Amino acid sequence: MNRFDTIVVGVGGMGSATCYQLANRGQRVLGLEQFDIPHTQGSSHGYTRIIRLAYYEDPAYVPLLRRAYELWAEIESEAGEQLFHRTGSVDVGTETSQVFSGSLASCIEHQIPHEVLAGAELNRRFPGYQVPDEFRALYQPDGGFLLPERATIAFVEAAQRLGAVVHAREKVLEWEPVGEGVRVKTDRSVYEAGALVFTAGAWNGSLLPELVKLAVPERQVLAWLQPHQPELFTPERFPVFNMQVDGERYYGFPVFGVPGFKFGKYRHLYEQGPPESFDWEPNAADEAVLREYAAEMFPSGNGPTMSLKTCMFTNSPDDHFIIDLLPETPQVSVAAGFSGHGYKFASVIGEIMADLATERNTQHDIRLFRWDRFGAGPAAE
Ligand SMILES: Cc1cc2nc3c(=O)[nH]c(=O)nc-3n(C[C@H](O)[C@H](O)[C@H](O)COP(=O)(O)OP(=O)(O)OC[C@H]3O[C@@H](n4cnc5c(N)ncnc54)[C@H](O)[C@@H]3O)c2cc1C
Repeated sequence: MNRFDTIVVGVGGMGSATCYQLANRGQRVLGLEQFDIPHTQGSSHGYTRIIRLAYYEDPAYVPLLRRAYELWAEIESEAGEQLFHRTGSVDVGTETSQVFSGSLASCIEHQIPHEVLAGAELNRRFPGYQVPDEFRALYQPDGGFLLPERATIAFVEAAQRLGAVVHAREKVLEWEPVGEGVRVKTDRSVYEAGALVFTAGAWNGSLLPELVKLAVPERQVLAWLQPHQPELFTPERFPVFNMQVDGERYYGFPVFGVPGFKFGKYRHLYEQGPPESFDWEPNAADEAVLREYAAEMFPSGNGPTMSLKTCMFTNSPDDHFIIDLLPETPQVSVAAGFSGHGYKFASVIGEIMADLATERNTQHDIRLFRWDRFGAGPAAE
């Protein structure tokens, strides 16, 4: 009864996709989630997440993105539901900013169709934007947004149709290797499996103490403001954006799901700590930071507040993901440190984690994400 091929700890963005991929390979899978499915206390809530092919963070992500797009289409067709909305994406900043220049470099390296617009052209073409003329925008038509709560449901339901067992409101308390496999103790039961996958987001460090300093949770706040001119903030007229202003980065979306256009500031107020230490109720200081930015770049969007929500990043030291097997116990794998840009990859992370659990290897190039790049294996400080 309590014996599985693979146990997945955390059924959020990455874990739900992993359960689906494993079940699709005929594995007997158990997904364990401490809260509800879906829920609003982790990293994968708030109705929308940006997906874009142009990738200023590093061109090495582009092949994974191409596969992620394919797998998003697959789960959409499996679920019979639209989970991806194509709006185009713009990466905006000065000519030398990382966001603009990195995005351009990734398009050139991977022959991704794109246009470069001067600030005034961006403002004319998509008038919700009012950026300085000296800014440059890289427009890429395949960008858009995903629906994370709906996608978590779609992955879990697809996994369940394939025989996966998924338990919400069951918290993993501890685990240990047993022979070639693992034993997992929860607040309800004890299970055994041949492989264990950690997709526990901001809580990965509580079960893998070696990760505490390498995958650090950070409080984020999102705002939804009612536009003064809502017709400028529809998905048809307002591409999703990343923008760099004075060394800070921001991102945002058209009106969808809530009567306001949504945006946030990467790293927000730089508040790091364990998830339990965060104040989950957004406050006036949170709102002020976001409103100041909206007033500058989106004057016709800067109307009454419709919603504020808290969420968590989990940052690695170099902002690249941590995806690996544990060297001493290769039956255990981890996906962590998504550093505020992981959701768009969830569909392909599911495939990679299923590869690691079943083959202890993957055809995808995950060298950028190896744990030992931090100079020491997981056993070290
Ligand atoms: C405000 C905000 C905006 C973002 N915008 C974007 C964006 O536009 N595009 C993009 O690509 N990315 C974006 N990201 C990043 C992206 O959302 C995250 O990288 C991604 O959601 C992380 O998914 P996850 O599965 O690691 O975490 P989660 O979805 O939080 O899943 C981890 C799960 O593990 C469960 N869990 C933890 N411990 C246990 C335990 N002991 N037992 C059982 N279950 C457990 C948790 O309850 C949780 O459900 C954003 C993040 C935030 C916070």
